[in-house]
Amino acid sequence: MSEPAARRRVRVRVTGTVQGVGFRPHVFRLAGQLGLAGYVLNDERGVLCEAEGPPSAVTSFVERLATDPPPLAVVEKVSAEEAAATGASGFVIAESGHGGEPLALVSPDYATCDACLAELFDPGDRRHRYAFINCTDCGPRFTIVRGVPYDRPLTTMAGFTMCALCQAEYDGPADRRFHAQPNACPVCGPSPALLDGEGRAMSAGDPLREAVDALERGAVLAVKGLGGYHLACLADHENAARTLRARKHREDKPFALMAPDLAWARALVELTAWEEELLIGRQRPIVIARRRPGALVADGVAPGSPDLGVMLPYTPLHHLLLADAGTPLVMTSGNLSDEPIAYGDDDAVQRLRGIADLFLVHDRPIQTRTDDSVVRSLGSLRPEPLMLRRSRGYVPASIRLPVEAPALLACGAELKSAFCVARGERAWVSHHIGDLKNWETLSSFREGVEHFERLFAVRPEVVAHDLHPEYLSTKYALERECVRAIGVQHHHAHLAACLAEHGECGPAVGAIYDGTGYGEDGTVWGGEVLVGDLAGFRRAGALAAVPMPGGDRAVAEPWRMACAWLLEAELPAPPELLRAAGTERFQKVAELARSGVASPLTSSMGRLFDAVGALCGLRSVVNYEGQAAVELEAAASRDRGSGDPYPLPVSEGGEGLVLDARETVAAVVADVAAGAAAEAVAMRFHRGVALATAEACERAAGEAGVNLVVLSGGVFQNRLLLELAAADLGRRGLTVLLPERLPPNDGGIAYGQAAVAAARLAG
Ligand SMILES: [Zn+2]
Ligand SMILES: [Zn+2]
Repeated sequence: MSEPAARRRVRVRVTGTVQGVGFRPHVFRLAGQLGLAGYVLNDERGVLCEAEGPPSAVTSFVERLATDPPPLAVVEKVSAEEAAATGASGFVIAESGHGGEPLALVSPDYATCDACLAELFDPGDRRHRYAFINCTDCGPRFTIVRGVPYDRPLTTMAGFTMCALCQAEYDGPADRRFHAQPNACPVCGPSPALLDGEGRAMSAGDPLREAVDALERGAVLAVKGLGGYHLACLADHENAARTLRARKHREDKPFALMAPDLAWARALVELTAWEEELLIGRQRPIVIARRRPGALVADGVAPGSPDLGVMLPYTPLHHLLLADAGTPLVMTSGNLSDEPIAYGDDDAVQRLRGIADLFLVHDRPIQTRTDDSVVRSLGSLRPEPLMLRRSRGYVPASIRLPVEAPALLACGAELKSAFCVARGERAWVSHHIGDLKNWETLSSFREGVEHFERLFAVRPEVVAHDLHPEYLSTKYALERECVRAIGVQHHHAHLAACLAEHGECGPAVGAIYDGTGYGEDGTVWGGEVLVGDLAGFRRAGALAAVPMPGGDRAVAEPWRMACAWLLEAELPAPPELLRAAGTERFQKVAELARSGVASPLTSSMGRLFDAVGALCGLRSVVNYEGQAAVELEAAASRDRGSGDPYPLPVSEGGEGLVLDARETVAAVVADVAAGAAAEAVAMRFHRGVALATAEACERAAGEAGVNLVVLSGGVFQNRLLLELAAADLGRRGLTVLLPERLPPNDGGIAYGQAAVAAARLAG
């Protein structure tokens, strides 16, 4: 006698980034393959499904949900519970559930997938050369979403009605475009257009081909992309690159390049296997890599830089443009020097008129301005790169917090600002917002905060902010009503951010080096050795403070910092520096430093790098913050000598360890006077700072009885310093943590503030 075949039914909950990434059709197909009955739906927590059938098939179904998700999904958890079998047959995709608080995650924008690319270049395909082709595995997400649940009416595609063919794809559970919210074709979707320099429509047969013709004649083209406008020209066109630089008022900052494909990227820069993976990855960041000698790039692209920033096309429009051009293009953000990148159509024409000769635009609105992300490989340290700017392709993926947070908002710092909303164990760090001193940036900060609060259903009970009373982010935080405000010291936030993203709570030692951060004693901190955990810290040591003669002017004019350090070390000014600064001005600034008037004290490591850059004769005035340090690192990287580290003694002061750079500065001055090359001086300086850092951290760790060391802060965007210091700490038996998913610069501050606030409230 045979038993009726046993049936098992399970109810499965899947959480993570599982909406808008083709998860339901994936489940539908999986159930079909395994011969299971049931349903799948999206609700406010993610994906919910029930599956019923032979027990072994049900087991395999649950396993494969976790191990074999669709490409864009990030499955955090699959939990299954038994349910009573109903004997029903067939598997359906059910209506979205509503109600409750959405926790479904909006995914980042991802590069065009291979299947879509094949169609894009297939003359027989109905989307041949269609600049907005996409599917559930690729295309726009974050930049077009206006609200949740992530459905077409709540995206900037709402104004386009799908044609019958597109609708059939959208409705077909087995189709690659099932519920692909931005699904479109040449008949029903967005289309490109070419405008002249005044923003007037031009009649163009194929706007892309005509745009390329103009580029070949040396034109500067504004291109509307995914998260904003770029300014483009041929990368090897001397005249065009020079014109673009002059019109953009961007004196030295390198332009990013977009290469048609990996082979072209290899011709521009030297790439490791790790860097190639970053280039072709679906996030498609700009990868900063070593320029290849003889790379065919105009002088005006990245003057004086040993590196180039390169990316590959990430939208179909870019793929077509680059394929037609057949050569790399400059693709720099569409803005005037320090303003935010343009993304609204009228605004872009307004602001880029006079810079661009032509505009290549389209009619799919951009909801959220999102810059290109920028990464830099960490050489031998680890495969994961250092994030320099976290934006398109990475945002708004959530980052875990090691402590549960109430609904909170963290407002970040001021330069390179980003904010963060959090609740429970999740934090969502915003796209790169930029310098908040700029009015336009501040308004996009306010809009961004509102947007994130809606998307992730965070109604803040707590607002975390920097201690700097003049930061606009601090003022914004303190203006919010009916919330509890928590101030977090800048460098503590850096330390906490790195700990928290690695799931650590501390205690740890942190060497936190940057340009500027408001200290608890009211001075400008920036060369800090902290001991702390997420909730609190103490200052275990710091670089000896010197005056910053003229305050912010000392940031723009590194020779002023050289002057301050020379005074501190009781050294006369070298003739080269006097020549660069002008003897009279130099004496005035020295007087200012001595008197202390308009000369706040700073322990900033960034400013010490500036001073040494000026003393080496590399740069006495900068065009962007940190330029002297960037050039000092570049010089050191060219050094092939084995010079000893300069002395940078670490001693016990009244209030902790003191890193005393007076001897360092004296050694620099002596070497330069003796005719040493800037490369050799720069290298010995890097070695000296790394050694002193390791020594100070080892002592602080020993006293505190901890083994964990964090290296973070904007100065650690310097790969050479990071490698030297990390290696030295490793030799001393200490465990080193480096920022990974977030930048070491102020782009990571908001998340650190969130971690600190959560830890304080939990404790
Ligand atoms: Zn695709
Ligand atoms: Zn269509």
